[in-house]
Formats: sequence, C-alpha cells, structure tokens
Amino acid sequence: MNKLKDKVAIVTGASKGIGAGIARQLAADGAKVIVNYVSSKSGADKVVADIEAAGGKALAVAANVTNKTEVEALVKSAIEHFGRLDIVVNNSGIYQFARIEETTEALYRKQFDLNVLGPLLVAAAATPHLGKGSSIINISSFVTRVFIAESAIYSGTKGAIDAITGVLARELGPRGIRVNAVSPGLIETEGSHSAGAMGSDFQIWNEGQTPLGRIGQVQDVAPIVSYLASDDAGWVTGEVMLASGGMR
Ligand code: NDP
Repeated sequence: MNKLKDKVAIVTGASKGIGAGIARQLAADGAKVIVNYVSSKSGADKVVADIEAAGGKALAVAANVTNKTEVEALVKSAIEHFGRLDIVVNNSGIYQFARIEETTEALYRKQFDLNVLGPLLVAAAATPHLGKGSSIINISSFVTRVFIAESAIYSGTKGAIDAITGVLARELGPRGIRVNAVSPGLIETEGSHSAGAMGSDFQIWNEGQTPLGRIGQVQDVAPIVSYLASDDAGWVTGEVMLASGGMR
C-alpha cells in the first residue's frame, strides 16, 4: 500500500505499545517515519530495524516531549533527514489512576505535562513546517466518553486533548492542515501490562461492556491513524474517533 507515499511522519512515544504499531503502519503505507522515544532506545531501534527490513525508511530520535528544546530538535530531525514533515502523531502518554483523595501536585503535573503540554509543544514546533494536506493526529482515550472511577487526572488530560483537537482543527484548517484524534478503548500494550490492567477485573469489566466482546490490540488502532493521515480523510478534521470495539 502506498497511500502515504512521499509523506514524512513523526510518531511520539513510538518505542513500544500503540506508538510502535502506528510507526510500523505508517511506514507500511509508504511514509518515512521519525520514531521518537525518551528512554527505550533499544525499543525504538527495533521498530526502525523492522521498518527497514520491510523496505521502509525510519529513524529513531530521542526527545522528551515535555521539553521545548528537545521537541524543536525532534521536528528539525524530520526536516534534516527526510526533507519535510506531513504527519504528526501525538501518542506519548501516561496513565496513572488514583482515588480523588490521593491527588497530588506530582501526579497531576506528571500526567498533564506528558499528555497535554507534550502534544501542545509538538504541535507548536511542527506547525510552521506543515503545509496543505498535512495532518496532526492526537491519541486521546475512550475515558472521555466512558467515565471510569479513579481516573480524574488522566481523564482530565484526555478531555483537554479532545478540546485542543477541535481548537487546532479550527485554527489550522484555513492553512489546509487537518487535526483529528483517535480514542482507543483498553488496548494491550507494555504500558497497560505494567499498569496492571491486563488480567485484572478492569479488563473483565471492559470485555463485558464492549459490544465486540474483547479488549483491543495495537493493530486495531494503527490503521485508523493511517487513514486519518492519508488524503482519503481529506474532508475529515476536528473529529475525535472512538476505536473501542463499540464501547461508549
Ligand atoms: P506505553 O506505556 O506502552 O508506551 C508509552 C510510550 O510513550 C513509550 O514509547 C515511551 O517512551 C513514550 N514516552 C513516555 N514518556 C515520554 C516523554 N516524556 N517523551 C517522549 N515519549 C515518552 O503506552 P500505550 O501504548 O499504552 O499508550 C500510548 C498512548 O495511548 C497514550 O497517550 C495513552 O494515554 C493512550 N491510550 C492507551 C490505552 C491503552 O489501553 N493502552 C487506551 C487509550 C489511550 P520510552 O519507551 O522511551 O519510555
């Protein structure tokens, strides 16, 4: 498939989980991909090696998306190595549930910095390089539609992302830049494993509430992001698309 031929993408947090799946999918669909990571160099290198083995082009670039200087260098790497930038996927994120009584400044700042400030800094640095036909895709979450106890801070970050998606779609639309979000349901990833969600009552509850009767895999999300990045979605902007097996 070549629907992203000649396009260059940055995927944040692409060393594992959903981001790694998105990077592989965009490359399989013809894009050259900057595979961002913050600590897992070996994970990012493996994603790049897999893409190259399949005949694609990719480059692993370290950057903490909460740091403006590092984000600017990340964007610069796309221009320097691949000559342009067309697709930005804001995927890096963290989820740490806690009862409301356990709210701390640290818990708030950690999640809002990575999940909200990060995508804002990346969009700010990338936008001057984006032209007509390019797009930003933010990874939100089903938690903004299905309210889950003990997720006030995390759900707050993703509610902010949904609003930011709509605002940027309005702000950047006149320049031909589309901005959309994808909101996955519970997905099996390294992150959801280490958060203890896999094999838990929360997983069982999700399966019971999901019309398609199972939790998601990375491959359930990645092709949707590729579609939104492609010219096939040229009339789609400001959309927050649930990818949750029908759970809402
Ligand atoms: P993982 O924990 O598996 O992966 C997180 C990724 O983010 C890693 O690549 C990690 O890099 C990167 N990252 C962490 N901190 C930073 C940082 N400061 N700068 C740059 N990158 C960073 O997460 P998931 O794949 O599970 O989740 C990905 C996204 O999807 C998140 O936004 C999450 O909120 C959302 N989501 C996830 C769901 C799920 O059930 N898994 C459901 C709905 C939404 P490194 O490896 O180098 O540390």
